[in-house]
Amino acid sequence: MSDAVLIVGAGIAGLTAAQRIAAAGATAIVVERQPIIGGKLAAPMTKSNAIGDRAEGEPVPLFQSLAENDNIEFITNATLTSVSGRAGSFNVSITERARFVTDDCTRCKLCHAVCPVVLPNEFDVGLTFRKAIYTPMITTMPEAWAIDIENCLNTPPNYLPCNRCTEVCDDNAIHFDQALETKHERNVSAVILAPGMQIQSGEEFSELGYGAHPDVVTSAELQRLLESPGPSGGYASRPSNEEYPDSVLLVLDDPSPFALYIVASQAKQLLDQDVETVSVLVLSPPTSEEAAQQLTEKTGINVHWGAAFRVQPQDGNLGVSYEDFTEKKYVKQDFDMIVLCVDVEPPDDLQALAEAAGVSVGDSGYLEVSGTNGANVESSEPGILVAGCGSSPKNIRDSIAEANAAADKAVGLLNPILLEGEAAAASSPAGPNDDMRNQIEKLLFALVERP
Ligand code: SF4
Ligand code: SF4
Repeated sequence: MSDAVLIVGAGIAGLTAAQRIAAAGATAIVVERQPIIGGKLAAPMTKSNAIGDRAEGEPVPLFQSLAENDNIEFITNATLTSVSGRAGSFNVSITERARFVTDDCTRCKLCHAVCPVVLPNEFDVGLTFRKAIYTPMITTMPEAWAIDIENCLNTPPNYLPCNRCTEVCDDNAIHFDQALETKHERNVSAVILAPGMQIQSGEEFSELGYGAHPDVVTSAELQRLLESPGPSGGYASRPSNEEYPDSVLLVLDDPSPFALYIVASQAKQLLDQDVETVSVLVLSPPTSEEAAQQLTEKTGINVHWGAAFRVQPQDGNLGVSYEDFTEKKYVKQDFDMIVLCVDVEPPDDLQALAEAAGVSVGDSGYLEVSGTNGANVESSEPGILVAGCGSSPKNIRDSIAEANAAADKAVGLLNPILLEGEAAAASSPAGPNDDMRNQIEKLLFALVERP
């Protein structure tokens, strides 16, 4: 038995689970496929109030406390490649890809000025540009920049060496001689999969002006604009002229509870930024009362049931034509900005992760889960748990709740003797008989061989 838990995914669920496990005196090993941690909330993980009320009062992990926590180890730019063993003792293999920039990087930006390769910055949903050597955003963890070797002019086979970045880096932080891959082998008691979700692009909305007019944006792009620090300093400025909008229309085709949560949250954030008119056009009324309430309880939001069919730029605004199903008439109205609510889907690499971990994917395309007491965090394999959006799209509060539930189950599989002093006592509050029963349960659990 080990005193460590492997967590795959360093978004809000993975990091919340890591903090909970670390607080129990155990070691959390966090593996993240991106070069930085934080996932979709990486930008606001710098200040306690940056996420605002989107977490509904739940504490959110912050970079500073994560960096100071000796019980959490991070392996970024890395993927889980295999899991063997059983609950209580898994052997896991992790493959870390080279970053080519070491911790000696001082973030001086000199390399940015000379790198000739310009690419959309996917960490800003393509709203900004980056170079082949880059930092995804203003503040990151880890702090060292990284090289996107697939787009770098030094990608092997290397017929035209570039090396402009190494020539200007006074800190000698760039090393193209790093091994392309490093393997890590660890023994852990439990695994928590927290792979997050993927947001679709807005391409399917081209008939509503997406891609043709800069002020037609997706909900993912609006969120990045609303976040501080963000490309526009945390304000919903119009991409066409960087002015603040007076009127914004959010268009929602699929009124699922998760989509409504996103729309209601963004509409509220726009109102908080003193946008005068915030309207939502929903294709059909939500089937659940709770979902409908998410929209209608936010005072100041104009909600219409209807379908937009044309967007035309005119006089500096966007003229939106839509059919109003309630009034049974066609309407044309001007807005400064239009937000198209895009769907979310399982991450591209979820199937590969499921295969590496030996767990099942359900018909929905997300990881299959079951559980008790409302905490559906058990994967198809004992000892491998799932938290956050890996099993279905979830809001921040529910992701945090699931992460804590998964972390508590993982701590139950750890060897209490290996846990640190008082923390071990805190994590084992049961009496002597309960302790013995728990130990027997763990041993029986550990005897269940993985097929
Ligand atoms: S890699 Fe070197 S040049 Fe680039 S930011 Fe870091 S220290 Fe500066
Ligand atoms: S070697 Fe690669 S990362 Fe460095 S400046 Fe050239 S293209 Fe950019």
